[in-house]
Amino acid sequence: MSDLLERRAALLGPNVPTFYREPVHIVRGDGVWLHDAEGRRYLDCYNNVPHVGHCHPKVVEAIARQSALLNTHTRYLHAGILDYLERLTATFGHGLSQAIMVCTGSEANDIALRMAQAATGRTGLIATDNTYHGNTAAVSALNTRRPPIGGWPPHVRRVPAPDGLVPGGCDGAAFGVNVARAIRELEEAGFGCAALILCPIFANEGLPDVAPGFLDQAAAAVRKAGGLIISDEVQPGFGRLGRQWWGHDWLGFAPDVATMGKPMGNGYPVAGVVARPDVMAAFREAFGYFNTFGGNPVACAAAMAVLDVIEEEGLMDHAARVSDRMAGHLAALSHPLIAGVRARGLFFAVELARDGMPAPEAAEAVVETMKARGILIGRIGRAQHILKLRPPMPFGTAEADFAAEALADSLQEVAV
Ligand code: PMP
Repeated sequence: MSDLLERRAALLGPNVPTFYREPVHIVRGDGVWLHDAEGRRYLDCYNNVPHVGHCHPKVVEAIARQSALLNTHTRYLHAGILDYLERLTATFGHGLSQAIMVCTGSEANDIALRMAQAATGRTGLIATDNTYHGNTAAVSALNTRRPPIGGWPPHVRRVPAPDGLVPGGCDGAAFGVNVARAIRELEEAGFGCAALILCPIFANEGLPDVAPGFLDQAAAAVRKAGGLIISDEVQPGFGRLGRQWWGHDWLGFAPDVATMGKPMGNGYPVAGVVARPDVMAAFREAFGYFNTFGGNPVACAAAMAVLDVIEEEGLMDHAARVSDRMAGHLAALSHPLIAGVRARGLFFAVELARDGMPAPEAAEAVVETMKARGILIGRIGRAQHILKLRPPMPFGTAEADFAAEALADSLQEVAV
């Protein structure tokens, strides 16, 4: 272990994070389980990338089969990308019928921003002030943890993210007022409003307790200004919410562009942007976009297998059922530091606060204690004070019971 840490530092440079005080060395995964180098197994309540389960045989087989036949780029004709995009776009409403395939969520969001700018002829962008949409130069200018070199660009405005610890912080009308103010500022500065980009469940913000309809006022303000709405579906997409394929269907708004990544290829790097034809045309005319690896035949085979498994194994219904059970367990948790519990399909949050202030040290202690009990979870939120459970979709009722019991026990060990 210390040998690997030393080699990492020597080869990857400083400030390359690992999870946990004592990092885990995972060597194998299957379904909802991860196995470390010492043969210890962990219940994976963290990873959404292995969406249909770690190393799902059907996805592995699809990747192997296509790899043995052909893998090249989209400048040759290939039915794989067309077959896939017909299936994918059929899951969308709102006229979102065309797509670009890329390799990462960051690239997808980079394209989405440029689509909005091409379609509107304006450059102003609005995001929440506690978000993460990726790591390209353009997209990282929306992130808030570290400012870009030279400071925040003036065409980006950040609005307060919904926040359960702030009175009225999950109120859609207040969010709408802030978005309208950001639009005014962008217009006065001469940028105009190209787009509002958001994750419809505000996952990185901490899965706050917003309700369907939350975006109504903000969406109306963006529409009135002629801007677009980009739904970043990297976290909620592909049926994680159980009853909806996409987060915007849950929150109840019509995006002009939707982006997706992480779960799309079950670990194979596949991501995408889905848009209305008029928005796609504006982008295609403004930029001659080509992505060497995006949408290659192996990527499409992996992504197609993911859709097959979601349907064949009924994973959305399963997620809805297990979510309800886990929500019941979370509601029954009792600890003075619990400021709120949330369930959005197979995505769960437990917010920890002391006297209305975030309690990140308590959250960290719980994450460590859970790990010691063989369960991997993570943290989100402005102060990293919210426990995040976001398991692969095959996470079942037995695992929910096990994780919830361990959570209740771990909380009891945390100092109040
Ligand atoms: N959008 C959201 C909401 C994300 O959480 C992330 C990654 N955590 C990204 C985009 C970026 O995706 P990627 O790491 O594949 O570039």
